[in-house]
Amino acid sequence: MKPEILLVDDEPQILESLRRILAASFNVTIACGGEAGIAAICSGKKFAAVVSDMRMPGFNGVAVLETARCHAPETVRIILSGFADYDSAAAAVNRGSVDQMLAKPATREELLKVLNDAAELNWQRISEKSFRNRLPADLGEMSAEMQVALGRGEFSLVYQPQIHLGTREIVGYEALMRWSSSRYGNVAPSVFIRIAELNGFIVPLTEWALNEAASRLAGWLDDGMAPVRVAVNVCPQHLQSGDLYRSVQAVLQATTLPPELLEIEVTESEEIESPTEFIHQIDLLNKLGVSVSLDDFGSGFCSLSHVERFQVSKLKIDKSLVDGLRRGTNGAIILETMVSMARRLGLKLVAEGVETEAQARMLAFLGCDIVQGYHFSKPLAVDDVPGFHYEPAGLQETGTQGAAASLH
Ligand code: C2E
Ligand code: CA
Ligand code: CA
Repeated sequence: MKPEILLVDDEPQILESLRRILAASFNVTIACGGEAGIAAICSGKKFAAVVSDMRMPGFNGVAVLETARCHAPETVRIILSGFADYDSAAAAVNRGSVDQMLAKPATREELLKVLNDAAELNWQRISEKSFRNRLPADLGEMSAEMQVALGRGEFSLVYQPQIHLGTREIVGYEALMRWSSSRYGNVAPSVFIRIAELNGFIVPLTEWALNEAASRLAGWLDDGMAPVRVAVNVCPQHLQSGDLYRSVQAVLQATTLPPELLEIEVTESEEIESPTEFIHQIDLLNKLGVSVSLDDFGSGFCSLSHVERFQVSKLKIDKSLVDGLRRGTNGAIILETMVSMARRLGLKLVAEGVETEAQARMLAFLGCDIVQGYHFSKPLAVDDVPGFHYEPAGLQETGTQGAAASLH
């Protein structure tokens, strides 16, 4: 289930090209009309975000958004887009009718970021307002569907390679969950994982993922695949509960997998209620011989001061830091500092979301040797893992960074 967004503009060609750009991540409704039409659309559908052009002949973007604000649910994010007319935008923000301003000309990345943030914020607001049984009807339905779906085998794991930049060899895989629902189609992990975290289903789902990843790896090793490490994602609440340790112990016994080939990725978050218990659980996993890595490092909440306390063995550098990498910029300086800090603390680093050879070279130059990202490989279906060989020859600049197109 992709987030629903509504785009309002007076030029049909612009709306069509925006729809194409955004279709992979969002269900896009486009509207080329004034306030009355918007009121009708907003009362019929729940949007995560509404974006409207500011100046349109015949109707006023601010008024359109004010109408949307009145007719849409209160969780909607209202975004004004336009050439910087900060006075009227600021007035609209002050009145509370607009949440955010997207200045034109906007790049594809900016637009995607604004909308992704809006969708994310929307989930947070929904979750704050309606915990567990008070989920809105469609989310409640999805929650119930998830439990049946696990039994029906609708969940699967895909495996994204992690490459050593020095040798260009595969040193590990991150297991990422997919839900191909017979009812909703392919549901984005950001959606179903969040719902599962809210309704508690994340625990059986993670146990399934842990068992699945460990037994697959054991099978590949039996078939003669060179040893690699597989990382499984775990949410912080689950780690804290203490149940994870027992599951990991059981899975290691059942599969006879060498513990050093299993890794647990956990994200630090505000949801960690008891840091002491969190640290204790990491310690127990370390004692089993399983390594723990801190995911999304540098993405916001996670701070350097916590790293030492948490006794993790690896930091996964968030894509946002990799995206900020340009020689001689602050992004490069931040990363360089992080690499030298990691070295001093004896931590390994993996950079995530590497999309271009230029980023890979910069990371190698800064001393971050292990990388993961679309430039090397998208996550692989289970059957493609054993035969996968990374071919470094003939690399091209294929990432999105160079292709950032100005929208209009
Ligand atoms: P994450 O753990 O940070 O996983 C990395 C995400 O970045 C994955 O998205 C991956 O497909 C994507 N990615 C990898 N390389 C690139 C790249 O070069 N460019 C871009 N734009 N993206 C890249 P995915 O699979 O959609 O997962 C999203 C999030 O859902 C994960 O973020 C993780 O937080 C959560 N998730 C996925 N599988 C699981 C799971 O089994 N358990 C738990 N608890 N969470 C999971
Ligand atoms: Ca991860
Ligand atoms: Ca991550």
